[in-house]
Amino acid sequence: MLICRRIAELDRALSDWRRAGESVGLVTTMGALHAGHMALVAAARADHARVVATIFVNPTQFGDPKDLETYPRTEAEDLAMLKAAGVDAVLIPDASEIYPEGDETIVETTRLAGLFHGAVRPGHFRGVATVVCKLLNIAGPDAAYFGEKDYQQLAVIRRMVTDLHMKVRIVGVPTVREADGLAMSSRNVRLTPEDRSAAPVLSRALEAAAGERDVAAMEATIRRVVGEEPRATLKGLDIVRADTFTPAEGPLTAPVGIMISAQFGDVLLIDQREVSP
Ligand code: AMP
Repeated sequence: MLICRRIAELDRALSDWRRAGESVGLVTTMGALHAGHMALVAAARADHARVVATIFVNPTQFGDPKDLETYPRTEAEDLAMLKAAGVDAVLIPDASEIYPEGDETIVETTRLAGLFHGAVRPGHFRGVATVVCKLLNIAGPDAAYFGEKDYQQLAVIRRMVTDLHMKVRIVGVPTVREADGLAMSSRNVRLTPEDRSAAPVLSRALEAAAGERDVAAMEATIRRVVGEEPRATLKGLDIVRADTFTPAEGPLTAPVGIMISAQFGDVLLIDQREVSP
């Protein structure tokens, strides 16, 4: 596995592969890898001759400097996992190369970025869209793989790729969970043991809501289930039409996406589920 600290090192490998007519799949990550990330790698591996992964803790998508500072960093383990999964090249760039001196261009999905999770974390989706646009331009893959766990992020990226006529296929991969239902996340390691035990309340709430056939009933069920867990503070609850990403209401007639976020101590966790009629 090629480990590239500079974009030019990846460029050389990419041009060899392109010359040989090989297709390329891209998985972008912030490191601290777990089985969720590896599901994206496996999906890319199944579809492409070459798989490129990136590890970059993107400063522009963090609102809180403390969150950026304390974001887990486990590079040696990450590289071992990527190598074992058959990744061909990993790019671990420096922020100064991703955001070169004088950098001033941003990418923003103007409606989507301000809604839902974006309302709780101002600037977050602008940072995400900007860095994903840069990474897609750097790697120029045939397809890029993103987790459905970050449901709004996936919608933002699909919107950006459509709007900017980017020639890449975006593939969503189902959320990978722990045995007790907790969605795998690099942030889970920051939970106290008590909060870790309480955190599966999010997936339980989503499962209970999936049994309802009306949007108001889904919301009430989630508030009730999360409300029963004193360690969880519900921060965001949004139910959107899966096709338009506009708020859903009334009886369930088309697929909807339920997005929730909740605070456990100083850790904000998110979870998501799609429900079809
Ligand atoms: P991150 O390193 O948190 O930026 O995540 C990198 C990619 O992995 C994103 O596309 C995430 O949506 C995806 N991802 C993170 N957690 C999971 C999970 N539990 N299941 C599936 N994909 C995930």
